[in-house]
Amino acid sequence: MREYNISLDAKKLPTAWYNITPDLPTPMAPPLHPQTMKPLAPDDLAAIFPMNLIEQEMSAAPAIDIPGEVMDVYRLFRPTPLRRAYRLEDALDTPARIYYKNESVAPSGSHKINTAIAQAYYNKEEGIRAMSTETGAGQWGTALSIACQFFGIECNVYMVRVSYEQKPYRRTLIQTYGGKVFPSPGETTESGRAFLSTNPDTTGSLGMAISEAVEVAAKSGGKVKYGLGSVLNHVLLHQTVIGLEAIQQMEQAEAYPDIVIGCCGGGSNFAGLAFPYYGDAKHRGKSIDFIAVEPASCPTLTRGHYAYDFGDTARTTPLLKQYTLGHNFMPPGIHAGGLRYHGVAQQIALLVNEGAMRAVSCLQNPMFEACLLFARTEGIVPAPETGHAIRVAVDEALKCKESGEAKTILFNLSGHGHFDMTAYEAYLSGKLTDHALDAAVLEAAEAAIPKVTVES
Ligand SMILES: *Cc1c(COP(=O)(O)O)cnc(C)c1O
Repeated sequence: MREYNISLDAKKLPTAWYNITPDLPTPMAPPLHPQTMKPLAPDDLAAIFPMNLIEQEMSAAPAIDIPGEVMDVYRLFRPTPLRRAYRLEDALDTPARIYYKNESVAPSGSHKINTAIAQAYYNKEEGIRAMSTETGAGQWGTALSIACQFFGIECNVYMVRVSYEQKPYRRTLIQTYGGKVFPSPGETTESGRAFLSTNPDTTGSLGMAISEAVEVAAKSGGKVKYGLGSVLNHVLLHQTVIGLEAIQQMEQAEAYPDIVIGCCGGGSNFAGLAFPYYGDAKHRGKSIDFIAVEPASCPTLTRGHYAYDFGDTARTTPLLKQYTLGHNFMPPGIHAGGLRYHGVAQQIALLVNEGAMRAVSCLQNPMFEACLLFARTEGIVPAPETGHAIRVAVDEALKCKESGEAKTILFNLSGHGHFDMTAYEAYLSGKLTDHALDAAVLEAAEAAIPKVTVES
């Protein structure tokens, strides 16, 4: 009998997050202050983040205990299932064994709630009553809204205008969970008004929405703090529950991955699965092929520069050493909204730069083709973001078919696509275009990357 689902006893829920910082092959470059360009002090971040999260951001401890109140909310939906994709394997006629960790069963429909719960909790611990944030496709705004609700915090969401208009159900979902939604850019902030005066018809971008949300926190006199849904060390840290559970579940299935795959926007779901395995493989002397998958139209890791850059368009965030397409980069309006970000987590950038992990990109039509195959074999409709990971899992399984190798492939099913039916409709009716990004567009955006020399 086939064992499709590898469940994990609720008693085995991880009780500490895995911090990759001490395991990195080289130390991270220090974050820089946006005005002085000097290495950042913890206090520099205190205007927008609570101190407990700043400490986590800078921590070099190998593990950080998960507070009991966070564990309590995690237990609503964790451990999430790990499934062997037998039906997908059959359809591909591959000797490869494909497994996926199913984060789509989380209340908000994606992995993002793993950090949202932790961030809301730490803000509550510091007496904060309101948070501000940005959202692109809407998944992060959804996750933080419900998490804030759990901890009695008001949640203000700056939603990229194009999503605000094209995804009314996402907006309504955020409101259902108690969040307040503002289209970005908008008239309520100084940076929003500036973006609109330069470009009245702008559809917005994640970079602009971050500027607005950060401004609201920075000008609140400590009343409102800001929460980011990806990129930062502490966000990736919180997501490691995914991989820590997966390691135990794969052990139960007597399987060890040769390949670990995740789609990569800011990098949090990829890191959530890959980082604990990176540590595990390092300590056991094993080797794993880690693959981050990004859209060909926002090719941060595959075509960007390894350099210091801002996280937002208005140049208000600290500079992080990362792969970047330039903080002014406006990605084309592809359907994987959660992957449209000019930068990426510094920890992932470092690992890719060191050759410890690798990145590939894919176009949206082949990506949706894999989504349909997955939906029709496994029964789950994936988010278009997740489709990038599925495409590469399928490609790797097809390579195994050619070579006859029975590799073990593990990917992260970061979220479901129930709010992405317009995207599926466009694909099914043949209206989806594939843009190969023009080198000139990339060059123009790269010109904005600041030239930074760090004094040590
Ligand atoms: C936001 C999102 C992503 C991309 O963000 P990462 O931080 O790179 O994980 C991927 N998949 C889903 C379903 C998302 O909601």
